[in-house]
Amino acid sequence: MLLTISTTHQPATDLGYLLHKNPARLQSVDIAYGQAHVFYPEASATRCTAALLLDIDTVALVRNHRGPAGEGFALEQYVNDRPYAASSFLSTALVKAFNTAMNGTCKDRPELPETLLPLEVTVAALPASSAEQLHRLFAPLGYAVETDAHPLDPTVPEWGESRYYTLRLRHAGCRLRDLLTHLYVLIPVLDNDKHYWIGPAEAEKLLHRGADWLPQHPDREFITRRYLRFAEYVNPTLKRLLATEGAATDDAAGVVLPAAEITAAADEANETEQVVPASTTEPVAEKQKLHDLRLARIAEEIRRVGAKRVLDLGCGEGKLVRQLLQQPQIEFILGMDVSYQELLRAQDRLHLAEMPPRQRERLTLVQGSLLYHDPRLAGYDAAAVVEVIEHLDEGRLAAFELVLFARARPGVVFLTTPNATYNQKFEKLSAGQFRHSDHRFEWTEQEFTAWATAVAERHGYRVRVEPLGPEDAQVGAPSQMAVFERAV
Ligand code: SAH
Repeated sequence: MLLTISTTHQPATDLGYLLHKNPARLQSVDIAYGQAHVFYPEASATRCTAALLLDIDTVALVRNHRGPAGEGFALEQYVNDRPYAASSFLSTALVKAFNTAMNGTCKDRPELPETLLPLEVTVAALPASSAEQLHRLFAPLGYAVETDAHPLDPTVPEWGESRYYTLRLRHAGCRLRDLLTHLYVLIPVLDNDKHYWIGPAEAEKLLHRGADWLPQHPDREFITRRYLRFAEYVNPTLKRLLATEGAATDDAAGVVLPAAEITAAADEANETEQVVPASTTEPVAEKQKLHDLRLARIAEEIRRVGAKRVLDLGCGEGKLVRQLLQQPQIEFILGMDVSYQELLRAQDRLHLAEMPPRQRERLTLVQGSLLYHDPRLAGYDAAAVVEVIEHLDEGRLAAFELVLFARARPGVVFLTTPNATYNQKFEKLSAGQFRHSDHRFEWTEQEFTAWATAVAERHGYRVRVEPLGPEDAQVGAPSQMAVFERAV
């Protein structure tokens, strides 16, 4: 069984640092029932490939009664696909061989685990019910998926195709640890013949490894069911997975997402593809000017409060981040967005790859959704949430509220959203229409103030709401900003 991971990130040999495996040496680790070998078929500055080769001892499997379930033919225990097909053995080997990388640690180059890299993976033989199934599982995670079906026997074409595929995945920009985690979970899901006993510990593993991406995956129910196999664990796990809080704590009780809402929640990742101009009704030049104004104002406010650690939530292509990097008092900025596309654009526009190391250390861009509790967001002085909430379904604002104000709790939050009353000024916009096709709602000043006041009260913040942009005597300013200050 062979798995390869390649990158064209420059220098490509950074892959060695990330995987914690020296490209110049063959390294082997013992796994249950065999060995895993790591080596590099190529390692140049422009392209580097790491290979993980699994050597499974089928006889040891039989002795330990860990072969296939055994209802098959008499020799099945000895003659089976386990040594050759990607299975839960490969997952076990991934954690064993690449544990450091999977946990996002890199002592020598701490910024590398967070870097979005162009990555390519090939899994030599993966069982699947169809090529379509492989697409369904991997494409929503941002991969370009290619599959090659293998015939049952190349010398007897009339027997048709086997259930094995060579799978090739390409991602334009992905953290290596996310890729490893996706494989770790999805390979056993596809294999459907797990070698170890499935108990509550497996459910914990799935919650841990899937926290960042599984709740948004359109096939999360199938994945959870297959991963756990025994129904008694499936439902409670699904419930916890889809709860805003990772663990079932009491304070989350109000916002556990009912199963019926799951479908709406699932489209998070796609949602943002439409955010960029295409169908905006707001005149372009005015929109740009307004937006620059908003950003300059927020950057100024952040400077004024002297924030050292700053969150830009829903950072998009990084316009605010660029301004914030110019403020010397800021030590660290975390930019988060749900869309990889936007993060790639930000990485590009900010010239992240060419940044001098001191500057580079001040900024990390991560993918994440504001609708799920995320421990990475804790411990910040200030957060900017600029023109983001109107992209969230109104019914899910309660989840956003808990994530930001109950769990992350930054010292001060600058949150902006369009002022619905101002829409009359846009000629092309008829009454009741939104400024952008992806907006889920637009609020009047009264509506925004009511929401902001209630949120502040519930979580121990003081709040003031201000107009943002040039004010019109009749309809007010085009945008509005709430400034929340943590009271305790
Ligand atoms: N703050 C930026 C971008 C605003 S556009 C700016 O002012 O320029 C809205 C952004 O919110 C998009 O980049 C979109 O991808 C992001 N977004 C939408 N839903 C999100 C969610 N649930 N979690 C995090 N980001 C989200």
